Amino acid sequence: MKSWILRNLTITRRIAQLTILAMMFIIPYLNVKGFTGVIGTFYSMEMMGIPIVDPALCIQTLALMRELYVPLLLAVIIPLLAALALGRIFCSWACPFNTLAEYAQMLRLKLSPNKRIQAHNPAQIGHYLATLCLFMLALVFTFPVITFLSMPGLLTSQAADLVFLGSLGLELGLFLIIILAEVVIGSRFWCKYACPVGATLSVFRTGASLKVTFDASKCTCQKTEIYDCQKACPLSLNPRKKGIYPYCYNCGACIDACQRNGRALSLVFIHQKEHVKPLQRKMEEVNG
Ligand code: SF4
Ligand code: SF4
Repeated sequence: MKSWILRNLTITRRIAQLTILAMMFIIPYLNVKGFTGVIGTFYSMEMMGIPIVDPALCIQTLALMRELYVPLLLAVIIPLLAALALGRIFCSWACPFNTLAEYAQMLRLKLSPNKRIQAHNPAQIGHYLATLCLFMLALVFTFPVITFLSMPGLLTSQAADLVFLGSLGLELGLFLIIILAEVVIGSRFWCKYACPVGATLSVFRTGASLKVTFDASKCTCQKTEIYDCQKACPLSLNPRKKGIYPYCYNCGACIDACQRNGRALSLVFIHQKEHVKPLQRKMEEVNG
């Protein structure tokens, strides 16, 4: 089962994403019927009695309260541990905004295939600067700006409102403006530069966190304008080059594309040391 998942990362991820989209409506519906095992939204929820809070919202709340509130700190342990181990996997596998933005991007490429963005890895500073400004805004003006800009929280709370109250809020307009801009501009700018949730999660990454690595000696692709792995990347990154982090959200689409070629890309926890590679290569030559 585990190796099937690893060989079919994109199919598995699509199933997970669509399940989350369905759960956005099914869970509030079950709540109405009396189910209390899972309550809340991607802002904050309770699963089997365990509170879980979005780390970006936690920082904003602590800044607005101007005090350390221990229960809030405890509620970010699970998302932070997940980010430390697996990177921004929440973004690529669970966030409903990303799911919709990926489908919007596919639609855009279908309608105008020549508009494909050239894959490149932007400088890291752009990723953090906007979020830092947002947190400063919240702090200086004591205004909960992160609440409005957290797309996973906004979409899940709107879905809950629809089920509970039968109505939608004006906040949904912000989502529509962003997704429309993504379709027109097509650069996936929101998840790369503007989202405070993704930017906060990407801070919690160490050398041992799950990461994409490229072994040039295994690459069998002919030199081309755009490689299969680059074409597959929903964020238009170039996984053949260094510097995909903090943008890369470990979706595995490039790994899947590489399966058809030389398997030069892989998802690993720790960078392989150079001195073990010759031994591994010999083992592969002998054992296939
Ligand atoms: S960056 Fe924000 S909107 Fe994009 S996938 Fe991550 S949480 Fe969702
Ligand atoms: S570099 Fe690979 S794993 Fe990272 S976002 Fe792009 S396709 Fe996904």
